[in-house]
Amino acid sequence: MKTLKSALFHLVFPGGVVIAVAVALWQWLPHALFPVSTVVSFFSFVAVATAGVCWRYSRSRLFLVLLVLALSAVLDLKQSTMGPPVYLFWQQLIPLNLMWLALLRERQFCSLATAGRICLLLVQPLLLYGILVYKLSWYTALNTWSWSIVLAGWTVEMTLPVLLVCLVFLVVLVRYFWRNNGENAALVWVLIVCCLALYGSDLVPDLYWYALGPLLILVMVLEQAYALAFRDELTGLPSRRALSDQLFRRRRRYGVALVDIDHFKKVNDTHGHNVGDQVLKLVSTQLAMVGGGGRAYRYGGEEFIVLFRHDRKEVTTQAVEQLRQRIAKTPFTVRQRPRPTKRPRYVVPAGKGQQTLHVTVSIGLSWWEKGLDGDAVIKRADQALYRAKKAGRNRVIST
Ligand code: GH3
Ligand code: MG
Ligand code: MG
Repeated sequence: MKTLKSALFHLVFPGGVVIAVAVALWQWLPHALFPVSTVVSFFSFVAVATAGVCWRYSRSRLFLVLLVLALSAVLDLKQSTMGPPVYLFWQQLIPLNLMWLALLRERQFCSLATAGRICLLLVQPLLLYGILVYKLSWYTALNTWSWSIVLAGWTVEMTLPVLLVCLVFLVVLVRYFWRNNGENAALVWVLIVCCLALYGSDLVPDLYWYALGPLLILVMVLEQAYALAFRDELTGLPSRRALSDQLFRRRRRYGVALVDIDHFKKVNDTHGHNVGDQVLKLVSTQLAMVGGGGRAYRYGGEEFIVLFRHDRKEVTTQAVEQLRQRIAKTPFTVRQRPRPTKRPRYVVPAGKGQQTLHVTVSIGLSWWEKGLDGDAVIKRADQALYRAKKAGRNRVIST
């Protein structure tokens, strides 16, 4: 449920917001503010920046999506001088190309595979030109092929291109919910702007919609870069860097709990590193639910920090004590194989190939005091943790 919620959230934010703002700007601002030359400059500027970012972060698939948008914009601009309606036919191919790109595996940016894919995209308008010069009737036949579908008393006229777009939407959305990452979200957004160009009102120039595409890709790559820098990949918790950032900003009145899994090396040695990783994810799920206004971070290895943005000692002590008890009581069910790719959300009953483990944590708690910086507060929490370990583990000790 949480994964579905987060997938829906990442679909709306920031891509949906960018599209909503663009629609609002078009509605409320005078259209004279968006002459073709300005839109072309915006498109070119953002597309060059996005291509650079795609190259730097080795996102060849997104670069190809960018190429689809650039081809669309060029064909749109040139359609009056081109003769055969290459642009109209190309528009029908955009969803198919995006579906193809959605299903492709990521490859090295500078590789033969990427070069081949670029050629496959570039050759399409040329082929279309050739075909349309000789067989213009094909396009008309394709567009007039239609079925009447009766849906709850309503008759819907379904043409082949519309049916294709529906199919592509389904594939791209399933792919996104299957692998919820920013790249697949960007593909959904780009498909939406291309469909707005294809089926949206004639009052909005297609170019305006295409110009949003590079921006959406750029926003997505930056979002992913942010997640890489500030989120821990294994547990999904905010990383140590995010913690330093918070501590740097928060100069006073806070509490820090340093949480360390007891005898974790034994878990690794007995059950393997894979099971150790699963235990880390399950413990993180508990840590993410800590009360008292605390926020959990992965500090490193099997150590976590819960940062409280206040220094109410009873509240923080009670919250970490409850956390310790919950972890000690929870039976963690782990699978021997295959290695899960996502953080498990609930404990499933032990079955074949599954094993139930119990782990405990020791916690050192300290609070900000005048004259102490973030590192000093953490050092104090570490000293308290050391005492908790010495005293027999599975306990909370505060400074
Ligand atoms: P103590 O109760 O004193 O904390 O004992 P411990 O065994 O938990 O502590 P120790 O620091 O000796 O061992 C921590 C182990 O955590 C060693 C390291 O291999 C393991 N570890 C660190 N990061 C990861 C990780 O990401 N995945 C797995 N599976 N193990 C990790
Ligand atoms: Mg440790
Ligand atoms: Mg430990």
